[in-house]
Amino acid sequence: MSNQPRVFISDAMEGLSERAGRDLLSPLRARAECEIWSLARRPDREELEAALGAADGWLCMLTDPVDEALMAACPQLRVVSSFSVGIDHIDLAAATRRGILVGNTPGVLTETTADLAFALLLAAARRMGEAGAYLRAGAWAESQWEIDAFVGQDLHGATLGIVGLGPIGQAVARRAAGFGMEVLGWSRSGRAVPGVRAVAFDALLAESDFVSLHVALVAETRGLMDARALAAMKPGAVLVNTARGGIVDEEALVDALRSGQLGAVGLDVYAQEPLSADHPLLAFPNAVLMPHIGSASVRTRVRMADLAVENLVAGLEGRALPECANPAAREAAP
Ligand code: NAP
Repeated sequence: MSNQPRVFISDAMEGLSERAGRDLLSPLRARAECEIWSLARRPDREELEAALGAADGWLCMLTDPVDEALMAACPQLRVVSSFSVGIDHIDLAAATRRGILVGNTPGVLTETTADLAFALLLAAARRMGEAGAYLRAGAWAESQWEIDAFVGQDLHGATLGIVGLGPIGQAVARRAAGFGMEVLGWSRSGRAVPGVRAVAFDALLAESDFVSLHVALVAETRGLMDARALAAMKPGAVLVNTARGGIVDEEALVDALRSGQLGAVGLDVYAQEPLSADHPLLAFPNAVLMPHIGSASVRTRVRMADLAVENLVAGLEGRALPECANPAAREAAP
């Protein structure tokens, strides 16, 4: 029997490896016995437990719920490396208590995700989804150029409020400056960011024509954009969310779109993913909806894969993870 460590990898990454021109998992194959999930659907609970029962390491996706019960069922698990910067799918406190190191992929996806936030701001402001659908349906061919067709809002000269001034929030602020926007920002720690006027949360909501969300999803930010916060926004303002769905109360969001309190939304993330085919948001032409593609450029996804693999290899070899969300777990490790 091999004395190599065992790892479970939640995604075979075949398509991405092909695009990269190399096998992204080869450093793991060289050092561990790898069990690799290769079906198109995600593994369910039972399948995860079966795959992880004897595993020392796990390269997981943000769709994998890494909860305490699952960790308890995997006594050998020493390191979980997530292919994501967000770690709200992982019970970090439980992992730390159990001495399980958690790796993630900050930094490498900052600019790409900020690009998507800006694309959503532009698409929602200029009604690009509606206008594109009109053209594709053949409606333009049967009509003519009209003076007030798809008139939207300008970004230049407008005020953008950024909620959460971490790396992605700051990258959005840099883009907004180039677009001639006035930029307001709120963060719990009152970070000073060049070009961003720090304001209180309610002042940001009241003064911004566009609001873009960039806080991590934790207990304190869950439902941050609730009915009260949405009502405190400027009537007709645009809300963009590329952070996590749980930050917004989705029922209240639908109400705010229905009443016209929100002029438009641009969303990449949802309370439940994938978004169900009958979700009420789908009824709104002024909702620009993306299927969680914030980091989805080839270069960035390859960099995320490399970092996730490096984190897992380091953990298996007993070295410090290049990006570790809970270094304190070392003290609890058996
Ligand atoms: P991050 O390190 O994940 O966190 C961003 C901000 O969250 C920090 O600035 C922090 O505020 C704030 N925060 C943490 N706990 C908080 C609390 N209790 N109350 C209020 N604010 C709190 O930074 P990031 O790399 O910029 O990523 C932001 C989020 O974007 C991620 O957490 C992830 O969920 C999401 N994301 C989505 C995609 C996508 O594909 N759509 C891609 C990448 C990331 P302070 O600065 O004040 O400490």
